[in-house]
Amino acid sequence: MTFSAQAVLDAMTTVVSGSAPLHVPEIAGNEWTYVKECLDTGWVSSVGSYVDNFGDMLTAATGAKYVVPTINGTAALHVCLMLAGVEPGDEVIVPALSFAATANAVFYCHAVPHFADSEEATMGLDPGKLEAHLLRIAKSKGGDLLNAQTGRRISALVCMHTFGHPVDLDGVAKVCDRFGLPLIEDAAESLGSIYKGRHTGNHGVLSALSFNGNKIVTTGGGGAVMTSDPNLAALAKHLTTTAKMPHAWEFDHDQVGYNYRLTNVNAAIGCAQLERLDEFIERKRRLAERYTEAFANLNGVRLFTEPRDCRSNYWLNVMLLDPEVEVRRDEVLELVNAAGLMCRPAWKPLSNLTPYRDCPRMDLSVAGSLYRRLINIPSSPRLADT
Ligand SMILES: *Cc1c(COP(=O)(O)O)cnc(C)c1O
Repeated sequence: MTFSAQAVLDAMTTVVSGSAPLHVPEIAGNEWTYVKECLDTGWVSSVGSYVDNFGDMLTAATGAKYVVPTINGTAALHVCLMLAGVEPGDEVIVPALSFAATANAVFYCHAVPHFADSEEATMGLDPGKLEAHLLRIAKSKGGDLLNAQTGRRISALVCMHTFGHPVDLDGVAKVCDRFGLPLIEDAAESLGSIYKGRHTGNHGVLSALSFNGNKIVTTGGGGAVMTSDPNLAALAKHLTTTAKMPHAWEFDHDQVGYNYRLTNVNAAIGCAQLERLDEFIERKRRLAERYTEAFANLNGVRLFTEPRDCRSNYWLNVMLLDPEVEVRRDEVLELVNAAGLMCRPAWKPLSNLTPYRDCPRMDLSVAGSLYRRLINIPSSPRLADT
């Protein structure tokens, strides 16, 4: 069938009837029971059994050695960057196609994001293209990697698993090895997503998860730092709990810390949500299959499917327009949104945002193309049930 905005809408309505938000949490398990227990017992704040349970459940779900729950995903990312050794004035490689938080966390460290391009196969960072770029612009000096064009030290690389699809982690890790950069995974969108048999977030030195209201599992607002290094885990815990020295009654803080703790009430919601993670993923994968079938006979558009050797959580389903019809993206967005199907374009590349306009970057043509062609379509787990 030939492409038109109406044909896209017709295909979508074979899967989703009536109106549908982009993604809403499903609060239908033990959330009420667990939150009520917090309220009844008075354990509402940053200490309590649910915070500990939530960390343990995340460890089990991801295979991470250590998990430190935080107030949100952005805070988790900030802590990851600090612990990876990012210093004021450094540059940090981040994908241009990501949510603003990825670059914001770099800025919180008084460092500068250096934007990297994506690849079509994963929508995440393109390691081959980054390697070629770094060979062109960077040089080693005294054990550091310097951007020869800006004179700044490049001190870390953040990759991100776009809409739940794992980036080429082997490729990215190879670039990190070659240039001596610590790898941080922004795994905010990829809880439950597996790369070559191993949960995302376990391939870097540190990684960040998010449990914001729109993520696959929510705590209302929340996040976590993941690491396999016991020292880094202890430091993450210390830094997120105001750097207070353990003592029965004395207030002593050995550095400027942060109040980045997750509360027990939020963790209680998270525990109930995590009990259903596998089920959420199953339903999301079923929904993705139905969308794939719905678009199969429509020219000019396809549903993004998981990269090779990966099992994605399909957090937000992605519809990709062919370049030939990309000029009609907004026409599609107008029509489907007017019909009550909440669809959104990808984030504007971070390199185009006002605060980051002047930051260093490589050629970003693929990120730009993905931005022009990508539409996120309704992806709540319950849509798989209808
Ligand atoms: C959601 C998200 C974050 C930030 O998480 P919050 O919990 O909202 O602070 C960071 N990076 C990416 C890619 C995200 O999607």
